[in-house]
Amino acid sequence: MEALVLERKNELTLRDIALDENLGPHDVRIAIHTVGICGSDVHYYTHGAIGPFVVRAPMVLGHEASGTVVEVGAAVKNLKVGDRVCMEPGIPDPNSKATQLGIYNLDPAVRFWATPPVHGVLRPTVVHPAAFTFKLPDNISFAEGAMVEPLAVGMHAANKARIRPGDIAVVSGAGPIGMVTALAALAGGCSQVIMTDVQQPKLDLAATLGPIKPVNVAKEKLTDVVNKLTDGWGADIVFECSGNEKAAAGVFEPLCPGGVVVYVGIPLEPIAYSISAAQIKEARVEHVFRYAHVYPRALALMGSGKIDVKPLITDKFGFKESVAAFDFAVKMPPSSVKAQIELG
Ligand SMILES: [Zn+2]
Repeated sequence: MEALVLERKNELTLRDIALDENLGPHDVRIAIHTVGICGSDVHYYTHGAIGPFVVRAPMVLGHEASGTVVEVGAAVKNLKVGDRVCMEPGIPDPNSKATQLGIYNLDPAVRFWATPPVHGVLRPTVVHPAAFTFKLPDNISFAEGAMVEPLAVGMHAANKARIRPGDIAVVSGAGPIGMVTALAALAGGCSQVIMTDVQQPKLDLAATLGPIKPVNVAKEKLTDVVNKLTDGWGADIVFECSGNEKAAAGVFEPLCPGGVVVYVGIPLEPIAYSISAAQIKEARVEHVFRYAHVYPRALALMGSGKIDVKPLITDKFGFKESVAAFDFAVKMPPSSVKAQIELG
């Protein structure tokens, strides 16, 4: 079938490729409709690797997907042909210790779309376990359905923070993950989010999404804004979504005593932070890697209108324009958040 193949670093082609699509009894076959372009897809394109994951053979990109069920395995009970769905892209080993413990996202044997050597879903169809395939509410479009994957990261971060109603949170970094983390934090009970970035158009967009106070850290000091809003006490939660070395090291400054820091963004290099600064505040520090158990809740929040991801979908491309779409994503203008490719 025709798919968007990363041949090697810096070389993408839309071409025929033979892919295994055997339908097992617990699987469904899905006609792909929309696929979002993720920072990780772009990084594999421009760098050929993310940490220990190295592209050594041609790989189909894409993991943020929605589509329509076109065939169901004999044992599938929860889905039928014609259902509109989105898919959780990581398939853990059901018998692994991590899966038994409920932390299936940390299964070392997890097979995750478009993480080498596993093919992604920028292709017409895919076979996927029904247990990792979720029906879209009727009022949710395919484009929004393809946003559930990044939103799941924000949902997982909100869970890790153990938000209490009325918490004030800082989200550093107004990229796609920062935006969805802010939405999840507000839906989870935060009264206000203070969002940082250096790109003003992104901050302007963030300010339209809810009670979000944008702070351009190129012009303003985050701690000044936080202190003003909290009478000098500090923010209850800091979600570090930028992966930026300076931001990631500075998380304890705007934090309140007894607050929590959640590291969400992945720094490309090791970063140093002050343990004593964390100790003085008895900060709880959490880390997230992808997500677990959050797709149904993300869809419920979108279906009820508590979370609206539509403003984050800024750019659309057709499947035939996939290579151009990736070249656009490499040089994403500051006003863009999420680019998607439509196959359906
Ligand atoms: Zn993604």
